[in-house]
Amino acid sequence: MNLEGKNIIVTGGSRGIGESLVRHLAAAGAKVAFTYRSSAEQAQSIEKDLTSEGFWAKAYQSDASDFSATEELVKQVLEDLGAIDVLVNNAGITKDNLMLRMGEDQWDQVIETNLKSVFAMTKQVIKPMMKNRKGSIINMSSVVGVFGNAGQANYAASKAGIIGFTKSIAKELGSRNIRCNAIAPGFIETDMTDAMTDAAKDAITGSIPMKRLGKPEDVAQLVAFLSSDASSYISGQTISICGALNC
Ligand code: NAP
Repeated sequence: MNLEGKNIIVTGGSRGIGESLVRHLAAAGAKVAFTYRSSAEQAQSIEKDLTSEGFWAKAYQSDASDFSATEELVKQVLEDLGAIDVLVNNAGITKDNLMLRMGEDQWDQVIETNLKSVFAMTKQVIKPMMKNRKGSIINMSSVVGVFGNAGQANYAASKAGIIGFTKSIAKELGSRNIRCNAIAPGFIETDMTDAMTDAAKDAITGSIPMKRLGKPEDVAQLVAFLSSDASSYISGQTISICGALNC
């Protein structure tokens, strides 16, 4: 996938799926501005690696759940790049608990990081995208947002909210040539899934028809496609990437 000429923002690019997205999109020729919340060392090392290989990537410390921080971030990226072609809302967290034990803080943190961030970042980029007469917004949902999961009511609600938001933005901004799609990964090998016990991982792997967890690169290939002009008539969709778990 050739992404030369594309300016892309990826939230949460310091680890896991986000890191893979940053590396893949930059290697495909895009200029990639990516954020992190606290992993400064990891983010700087990704920027350094890619720059030394002749690609364009820059790390920005920015809390995706903080509305005014997203405003500052997009202002800074526009100063650095001039225009934004693609926004990937990838930053996300889990704070799992059964409903009986779930505290208000666990609910608020997950909704603000996973869902409010998508509203905040989208709000900041749509004016520049309208000016540019094109744009692609890619939101990281989850199969859990489609099917639900015991112990993840907060996370499932945030990821289901992303799907409704995605469809609405696709309808609202389609006439401006701005596309908006959601990706619903199944279980992907990252710090998020490393937190599971081996027994839980074995049980999940057994339930996946393709008998393996996904790799961050599997998701990166799909994001590259949705960032490119090859997907120019795809909008308002939720695309699962889950080894046939969600079918
Ligand atoms: P991860 O390994 O835990 O990485 C999360 C990334 O998000 C990190 O770069 C982290 O930055 C960043 N982040 C968290 N809160 C942030 C905030 N408030 N502002 C800015 N950045 C923030 O997670 P992952 O597994 O790669 O997941 C990435 C996305 O895919 C998430 O939205 C997740 O819900 C979704 N997803 C993952 C899976 C899976 O199986 N892994 C499945 C379905 C969906 P720091 O390093 O600075 O903390």
